[in-house]
Amino acid sequence: MDDRDGKIWMDGTLVDWRDAKIHVLSHTLHYGCGAFEGVRAYKTAKGTAIFRLREHTQRLFDSAKILRMKIPFSFEQVMEAQREVVRANQLESCYLRPLTWIGSEKLGVSPKGNKIHLMIAAWAWGAYLGEEGLQRGIRVKTSSYTRHHVNITMTQAKSVSNYTNSILANMEATDDGYDEALLLDSAGFVSEGAGENLFVIKNGVVYTPDLSAGALNGITRNTIFAICADLGIKIVEKRITRDEVYICDEAFFTGTAAEVTPIRELDRLPIGAGQRGPITEKIQSAFFDIVNGRNAKYAEWLTLV
Ligand code: PMP
Repeated sequence: MDDRDGKIWMDGTLVDWRDAKIHVLSHTLHYGCGAFEGVRAYKTAKGTAIFRLREHTQRLFDSAKILRMKIPFSFEQVMEAQREVVRANQLESCYLRPLTWIGSEKLGVSPKGNKIHLMIAAWAWGAYLGEEGLQRGIRVKTSSYTRHHVNITMTQAKSVSNYTNSILANMEATDDGYDEALLLDSAGFVSEGAGENLFVIKNGVVYTPDLSAGALNGITRNTIFAICADLGIKIVEKRITRDEVYICDEAFFTGTAAEVTPIRELDRLPIGAGQRGPITEKIQSAFFDIVNGRNAKYAEWLTLV
């Protein structure tokens, strides 16, 4: 995706897409210490708006803090830069990818003294797990890979290196013909998808793993809490076992890229009726109303570009 027209924001300036390059001796490329975000902008009646820009920007700064990296731009500058990238590429709806990385001044595990960089790219990106997946639900496989323990590379940072675990799990699941992987934590409890948080529904109550299972504190996950409160649906964070997922009535994944994607099968066992469930559908439709600006209550979650 490097050969296309457009602009990428790099260290404070918009550069041509094809020129947005870094040196092969960049520290992050070798040792994996870096942090990123995945953000979406949606077309609303008032114009293109970035969903929960402040929360995504805060998580980027939090991830950098956890990794002991100091982003050399202010919070307000990084918020504004994201709006600027969407405008510069004239995108009506898109995915944004801010990423902070360590420069190439020297190699060796310690990055002390190396420059910290920041880039933001934006491009049109449809349904991450497929348009059909949003309607019919996806097929998921429990991964043979364990999710990071909370004291390994820090699970609340959306850090570059954490995604090796996600890549391995996703490749294993998709090679086996599934759409996505579900990872368990080191104690065997359900954690999250390779790039999504998990929710299950049983007897009208929504459950999601608590964050001690190593799941990322998803911004979409947080949005689901607000939606459930509005719909009068009880939602509980707790430890969840793999077989609790097998016997739940409905299940879905959430994420900025994945949005609200129903799960119709886990390990070849149908979830509920083996299709998108009615509560999932209600939550999904409330989600799309909010992100597309059709719910005035959440207008402050949308930042016009
Ligand atoms: N878990 C992982 C591992 C992810 O990569 C993502 C996507 N950022 C999520 C959960 C969901 O987070 P969010 O809703 O903030 O995109």
